[in-house]
Amino acid sequence: MTEMLDRRAPPRPFFNKLLMPFLGAVTVAMCLSVIYLPAPIVDRMLRDDVHRKAQEWRLRVLDALESGSETFARATITRGDELWLSQVTTLSEIYCFKLIAAEGQIFWSTQAEDIGVVNEMPFFRRIVAAGNPYYQAEDRPVSEVDDHFLRSASSNRAELYEDETGKLMRIAEIHEPILQNGRVVGAIAFYTDLTELRAIFVDRLERIFIALSVVSLLMLVVTSTVIRRSGRMQLRVINQRAEQERQMMAEQMRLARNVRLLGELNEWLQSSRSLDELFKMVGRFMSHILPNSEGSVYVYSSSRDVLVGSASWNGGHHCDHIRAEDCWGLRRGRTYTFGSAEVDFPCSHSESQDDRPSFCFPVLAHGETVGLLHLKAKDSVPLEEFRASQRLAQMCAEQISLAIANVQMRDQLHDRSIRDPLTGLYNRRHLTETLRRQLEQAHREERPLSILSIDVDHFKRFNDTHGHDAGDMVLRAVASVFEQVCEGDETACRMGGEEFMLLLPDLGLPTAALRAEALRGAVERINVRYGEKSLPRITISVGVAVHPEDGTMPQQLMKAADDALYDAKGRGRNRVAVAGEDDPTQAEVAALHASPSPTPQEEAVA
Ligand code: GH3
Ligand code: MG
Ligand code: MG
Repeated sequence: MTEMLDRRAPPRPFFNKLLMPFLGAVTVAMCLSVIYLPAPIVDRMLRDDVHRKAQEWRLRVLDALESGSETFARATITRGDELWLSQVTTLSEIYCFKLIAAEGQIFWSTQAEDIGVVNEMPFFRRIVAAGNPYYQAEDRPVSEVDDHFLRSASSNRAELYEDETGKLMRIAEIHEPILQNGRVVGAIAFYTDLTELRAIFVDRLERIFIALSVVSLLMLVVTSTVIRRSGRMQLRVINQRAEQERQMMAEQMRLARNVRLLGELNEWLQSSRSLDELFKMVGRFMSHILPNSEGSVYVYSSSRDVLVGSASWNGGHHCDHIRAEDCWGLRRGRTYTFGSAEVDFPCSHSESQDDRPSFCFPVLAHGETVGLLHLKAKDSVPLEEFRASQRLAQMCAEQISLAIANVQMRDQLHDRSIRDPLTGLYNRRHLTETLRRQLEQAHREERPLSILSIDVDHFKRFNDTHGHDAGDMVLRAVASVFEQVCEGDETACRMGGEEFMLLLPDLGLPTAALRAEALRGAVERINVRYGEKSLPRITISVGVAVHPEDGTMPQQLMKAADDALYDAKGRGRNRVAVAGEDDPTQAEVAALHASPSPTPQEEAVA
């Protein structure tokens, strides 16, 4: 069962918890960067580019000037220089530039009105005059950009800006110091228009950031979907595990309960004293252990010709008797399952011949079949569920088998201990116990009880004449008569030798005396054949004693009956005598019925 559990590693919740905020932050950062990052990045890039280009422009200007850097020291230019310098703006991205002397005086400019102006800006003295380039880029309205630019610009650019005087332009200004022998002799201020370039780069960068934002947003959506799904899967896995564990627990509890019930069943069955008690216990327990099955149990009769229906439970039925041929399980000598094979046949002892599945367990003990346990699925119980109970049912059948065998063995032992082996009648021990019990009951209920003490007449002589075996046959024949005349609670016992005693509850005088006389007559009529010949007639003498008249205690009553028997013997045998009755007329109640013939033994001797 444990192996059935899903052992896959569950999704990592801690990782998921970190991943989502991380991706969220990245997405937000990407969105913000679309707004805030492109312009600064492009400006930084353009600044580096302008710095690099300014170096080239400076070198070209210095190369083109007739006196090079000396021009700055003198702060004057030649006519040739001026001609060349006026061409520079048309040959480069520079739309305006100025040559500035070391003191800040502009000595040449693409804008003539600037010539002679002194650059008073603090950066000039602090930065440029110290030998460092100064860069500045800012947005300016087109209207503020000097006419020179528009004039000097190419016709395309002029058209571009013609109607856009209200727009802003990105103008970069860079002052490149001019050094001579390690000393700053002046500077060149270049002005260039970055509007278009900046707009293109900012636009591209914005597109890139937008793309990245979209990608991170998609990742966020995908990741959150995956996490949600994996969360659902995890929940499903957890639920499945919980369900598996619940089922496992229920199964274990069911098994534990079955084991406990089986143990209790065993204990109860062991302590049962009779088969009736045992079957009551079986019915009660089986309806708890296998609540989905109707059941019945059969036990072989002592003659073993039929099986006796002994108990049923949970709505099951049992026949009074069935034969072993009626059950496929008994015929085959192993468990028979009806309803699981493609072709099978119901047992004929199964009362309702429906299609419900059933089991027939032969109940075996010590290698011998002692009975049958029949289980049938209740209505609406699925085949699989019923079949799953087979093992447990088998275990129950085994326990029931042993218990039946135990009770039967105990019954046999007990029976042997209270029976006389020669005649099959009860022995003295059983009589003593039964007499005590019945006397108590008779005393309690103030009812009469009679006992007959019986002795075969001249039996010694009979033995001596015909042999011990013939004597045994006579004893068995006499005992058989005694057994047949007993009804209900009446008990016939062999006290020893050729002496017998009958207990007749609820009989008082004169009924007991009449029964004794009838018995005497019946024995007299027995015809016992021994080999080729018939043995002589047998007679008995009978003494009758009655509770409470002749005694209330067992020994008292038995002695009274024995005394009456001796009395009968004394009066000539083959007669009935009643205890305490000295009157021969009364004692010989049966004289009316008795034969006047001499005793058979006397006849035999004669
Ligand atoms: P009475 O009419 O006075 O009773 O004389 P009786 O001969 O029947 O009485 P007695 O007590 O002298 O003899 C009883 C005989 O029963 C003695 C014994 O051999 C015989 N006997 C006792 N038990 C058995 C038995 O199990 N089988 C046989 N065949 N004989 C038995
Ligand atoms: Mg005797
Ligand atoms: Mg005798």
